[in-house]
Amino acid sequence: MATEKTIFKRIIDKEIPADVVYEDDLCMAFRDVSPQAPVHVLVIPKTTELRSLNDVNENNVELIGHVFCVIRKLAKELGVAEDGYRVVSNCGANACQTVPHLHFHLIGGRGFAWPPG
Ligand code: 5GP
Repeated sequence: MATEKTIFKRIIDKEIPADVVYEDDLCMAFRDVSPQAPVHVLVIPKTTELRSLNDVNENNVELIGHVFCVIRKLAKELGVAEDGYRVVSNCGANACQTVPHLHFHLIGGRGFAWPPG
């Protein structure tokens, strides 16, 4: 049975628009539609096989490493590297994950509290 495309897969397939700030063969980054900080970008691998961090394993090491190199590059390009930023991946219901496609929130441009809510 075919599973329904997530909103992120539809963005990858260009079926719905997004403010894309980076794209290559393996991953994509676009601005969150509901930004929680002056800079709020979602960085996602293009594969639909990784629904959350729970699906990451030794076979994805290169891909996830690449995604983090992109995050580091974007943090610099978007001007938050120097003052600091946060990278968040909500995994599962307790963490309030809403889209079942692995994604990393890159948020910056303001100070954050700790612990998170
Ligand atoms: P989660 O809650 O799963 O960690 O994060 C999902 C994020 O996707 C949320 O921050 C939400 O604002 C964002 N989002 C949901 N739908 C869309 C959309 O259609 N376009 C964009 N750019 N972001 C979206």
